[in-house]
Amino acid sequence: MNKIGIDLGGTKIEGILVDENYEIITRKRISTNQEEGYNSILESIKNLILELVQESDHKVSIGICTPGALSLDTGLIKNSNTQCLIGKDIQNDLKNILHHNVSIENDANCFALAEAKLGAGKNYNLVFGVIMGTGVGGGIIIDGKIHHGRTNIAGEWGHHCLHTGGNLCYCGNKGCVETYISGPALEKKWSVLTSQNQSLSEIIQNSDNHNFPNWKKSFLDDFGLSLANVIDILDPDMIVLGGGVSNIDFLYDEGKSAVYEKVFSDIIDTPIVENVLGDSAGVFGACLL
Ligand SMILES: [Zn+2]
Repeated sequence: MNKIGIDLGGTKIEGILVDENYEIITRKRISTNQEEGYNSILESIKNLILELVQESDHKVSIGICTPGALSLDTGLIKNSNTQCLIGKDIQNDLKNILHHNVSIENDANCFALAEAKLGAGKNYNLVFGVIMGTGVGGGIIIDGKIHHGRTNIAGEWGHHCLHTGGNLCYCGNKGCVETYISGPALEKKWSVLTSQNQSLSEIIQNSDNHNFPNWKKSFLDDFGLSLANVIDILDPDMIVLGGGVSNIDFLYDEGKSAVYEKVFSDIIDTPIVENVLGDSAGVFGACLL
């Protein structure tokens, strides 16, 4: 059976058709016209899928990777940065207009699944995948399957508390990981220290700035503690990093040391590695659902 994977992003929707060995047959990309609303997005996804179906000479499975989580209660999308999807039953709506089964999963789980089966975590049993980008999320893959947990929140690493009474998070809690090591949080911290609004890549190139060591130290402390917590509880075979923040080189040496320092064990050698699939993790993860 061939597989179709759709990655539903805030600015673009990408789709791939792959064969049973996950070799890409076709890849297509369209823009997400958020301002045109939910029905228009639904129609665009449908057309994209139909184009991909046409190029397949076998039956297909269809998977969708979406930002935001699916409520276990209602099956509806919550917390999506593609705002017009919030509260929608996209899985059933697509099922109805395509007359075809559709699997759907959040982007952090898709990322972790793709890296565990086709990317950096191949041959590792328990893989913890982390996305550090505009938001922060995680996914737990055990023996090639997403571990959802009792209430579907397993791996929601970005919203565990790092600092009691700390930064206010959009989720309503204070001190969430996301408010310290997401791209926007790191840029905000820099602007508080330096009164300069710079992008993360500009900040990294600004290591001569006298505020840089300070900024970097608190970043590494937060990164270290947040992943040490994961290792203490899950003891994964590998941690794979993704998202824009994961492009920062020092996470893989000094960052790794900052994690190791805080782990409750005298033997610690958990690999903390960069992703292999890059931006394609979402579409491949969707194919694997
Ligand atoms: Zn939060």
